[in-house]
Amino acid sequence: MRLKDKVTIITGAASGIGKETALLFAKEGAKVIACDVNKERLESLEKEAADSLHGIVPCKLDVTDRDDISACVEDIEKRFGGVDVLINNAGITADALLVKMTEDQWDRVINVNLKGVFNMTQSVAPGMVERGSGVVLITSSVVGRYGNMGQTNYAATKAGVIGMTYSWAKEFGKKGLRFNAVAPGFIQTPMTKDLPEKVIDRMIEKTPLRRMGSPGDVAKMFLFLASDEASYVTGQVIGVDGGLVV
Ligand code: NAP
Repeated sequence: MRLKDKVTIITGAASGIGKETALLFAKEGAKVIACDVNKERLESLEKEAADSLHGIVPCKLDVTDRDDISACVEDIEKRFGGVDVLINNAGITADALLVKMTEDQWDRVINVNLKGVFNMTQSVAPGMVERGSGVVLITSSVVGRYGNMGQTNYAATKAGVIGMTYSWAKEFGKKGLRFNAVAPGFIQTPMTKDLPEKVIDRMIEKTPLRRMGSPGDVAKMFLFLASDEASYVTGQVIGVDGGLVV
């Protein structure tokens, strides 16, 4: 088992990439705390992981709610003795061309995708520093590196978390903490399921590996980055995109 007993918080864990990561980490022996706004989906995830070493602990949590987060992290630190790994994965889209984007669309996406990462990381970092170790991973996107039409808000957040990753790698390296971002390309999850077939076909055509990624493709990268195999890897943005941007 590559993550035996590692206490791991995953946000946005009830669906897509987060769910697959939670199941893989549980299989690899981690103590997974699955955080999401969707209680019902968390409960079904808990059942799915019942046979793993520690199961999965569901935690209804909104990454924009700092009181919620403090209570959850305090509880985890009391119950499990500290957080080893945080995966900042919760994310939403609210797409529109710039001239049509409302302030509400901008604010919602910034609050979840960018401030949510700040909230969560600020809450776990002091405990990690105290214990002299910890790994923080973030789901960015190819859109954060190269932009995308109609995604001003989303691109700003996904580029923003790359800046945070670089800054935190510098700020906390000497304390024994590692920070890395993963930039998925085009992944088959509920987030992309309603895209028109024409758009999907065009994206696949542009992807050298000629397929959409699976949530498992991203989960396996998180597994590597969270494990001790990546003990000299920090401040990186790793693409999991089938070569989309080469
Ligand atoms: P997903 O299937 O929609 O999963 C995201 C989960 O996060 C959902 O369960 C969602 O709940 C939850 N969530 C939303 N707001 C939250 C909040 N405030 N606090 C806690 N949880 C919240 O999406 P996904 O495709 O797996 O995306 C996961 C991450 O990968 C996101 O950061 C996304 O931007 C990034 N990403 C995805 C792709 C892709 O092609 N799919 C590509 C690059 C990057 P609700 O469903 O109730 O909103």
